[in-house]
Amino acid sequence: MRMQSTMMPVPLSLNHFLERARLYHPKVEIVSRMPDKSLHRHTYADFHRRAKGLAEALVTAGIKPGDRVATLMWNHYAHLECYFGIPAAGAVMHNLNLRLFPHDIAFIVNHAKDRFLIVDDVLLPLLAQFAKDVNFERIIVVPLTGKPVEQGHEDYEAFIGKATGDFNCVEVDENAPCGMCYTSGTTGNPKGVVYSHRSTVLHTLVAALPGGINVSGTDTVLPVVPMFHANAWGLPFMSTFVGAKQVFPGPHLDSESLLDLYQRERVTVTGGVPTIWLSLLQTLRANPAKYDLVPGMRMLVGGSAAPESLFRGFDEFNLEVATAWGMTETSPLGTVSVLKPQMRSLSKEEQYGFRTKQGMAAPLVDIRLIGDEGEVPWDGSSVGEIQVRGPWVTGGYHDLPLNESSFTADGWLRTGDVGCIDSEGFLRLTDRTKDLIKSGGEWISSVDLENAVMGHPAVLEASVIAVPHPRWAERPLAVVVLRPGMRATGEEIRDHLAKTFAKWQLPEGFAFVNEIPRTSTGKFLKTKLREMYKDWKWE
Ligand code: ADP
Repeated sequence: MRMQSTMMPVPLSLNHFLERARLYHPKVEIVSRMPDKSLHRHTYADFHRRAKGLAEALVTAGIKPGDRVATLMWNHYAHLECYFGIPAAGAVMHNLNLRLFPHDIAFIVNHAKDRFLIVDDVLLPLLAQFAKDVNFERIIVVPLTGKPVEQGHEDYEAFIGKATGDFNCVEVDENAPCGMCYTSGTTGNPKGVVYSHRSTVLHTLVAALPGGINVSGTDTVLPVVPMFHANAWGLPFMSTFVGAKQVFPGPHLDSESLLDLYQRERVTVTGGVPTIWLSLLQTLRANPAKYDLVPGMRMLVGGSAAPESLFRGFDEFNLEVATAWGMTETSPLGTVSVLKPQMRSLSKEEQYGFRTKQGMAAPLVDIRLIGDEGEVPWDGSSVGEIQVRGPWVTGGYHDLPLNESSFTADGWLRTGDVGCIDSEGFLRLTDRTKDLIKSGGEWISSVDLENAVMGHPAVLEASVIAVPHPRWAERPLAVVVLRPGMRATGEEIRDHLAKTFAKWQLPEGFAFVNEIPRTSTGKFLKTKLREMYKDWKWE
């Protein structure tokens, strides 16, 4: 007989994280900003008791392994309890994106066949907008405001309060589902991605590494990225796993509230999309002496391309921006940009060149670039579609047939992103397939142009889109928001860009606006911009 390993086949399970929290980190704090701005504090010991109380209450209420329990919540302690309590009942946590249109939320709830809903009391008005289109068996309300829960709904505190405390987590196979998220539908209908205990545990282990997102027990972690969006990039799982103090902003995502929380709670790691960081930088600059933040606080940025000016700007305040790339489909960590040891002796300017790239694939993630003629070399300039595979990369979508526009025949995820990889293995994303600009037969990277436009001192935000052009098929149009009190003309911005771009690559037109429309997760909504400017009159 062939030799067998002697190792125990113990399943990888989130329940282990939950029990560790009580055993090893019972006194570590979990701090949440409440709707009235007060701070709610409890510990991992409270978290453990309450999450298990939730699991017991769900099982008593008839939730069976594999059933979906939805959450409609901001980032706070009760959502963290759901992150572990729902899987501890053997069930699947389905977090709903509260920024979607109500009819889209209803579509997702029905598609996922969610049985129960756990919802913040402050979000009941949102629920009311789609309640008639869905059929939750039970609605459990978290009384964040302290007001009594209205009749017809159950009170979360009473629900979990009924637990006896004598409950063992429901152990399931490591490949059993523990959670699901729908893609936010920036480029199409929302599609369900289902995570397993195994995929989530492996993702957590690797993402927490120093060469990854880098979270340890000495950190204090504040996810600005919503817990309903790709599991807040896994930060709550990583923090619980290592016993880091967790800080949650609740519904208060404005720059002042965030800076106040960073300062008060001595935050060392945070994560969010570029649009949030751009306004935070603006607030810091307006009042540089006001905030005393932990020097070197690591600010993870992802979700869309971050301009170089963002890295330079935060460097002035001794805050370290680091890029990661991923998708709901990749749990979400795909690549992360952490300088290799030999890169640390490069000049600051050369380091920006690497820091602003999306970085190296995380261990256990395979990546390749596919062009028209097959695999593209890693030479730093040849561009292809990014394809990935790995133990936390989805191999399909919930209740949808496998589709060759999303998955290749040999089992890779087609990300719809386009980029190049250099000889160091650092990925640089140049576009999304649908955002590419094809001018006179040549591709132009909208991301490169956006970065450069945002490098102009008078520009606060910019998005570059393809707009139909009678001669060139498409030409780039830059939609620009200027900094308050500053002025610049399209001509001046073009001159600034002409230092680094060929003439044919320069934006052909400039639209100055007060605000750029955003997606539910804070990205610039290019589909809307393309619609708005499709009849642009070229000069
Ligand atoms: P949606 O696809 O609906 O926007 P996701 O949150 O899953 O929802 O978005 C994943 C996409 O976000 C990626 O495919 C990529 O286009 C973009 N993205 C993520 N991280 C980065 C990054 N660091 N730089 C540029 N784009 C990014």
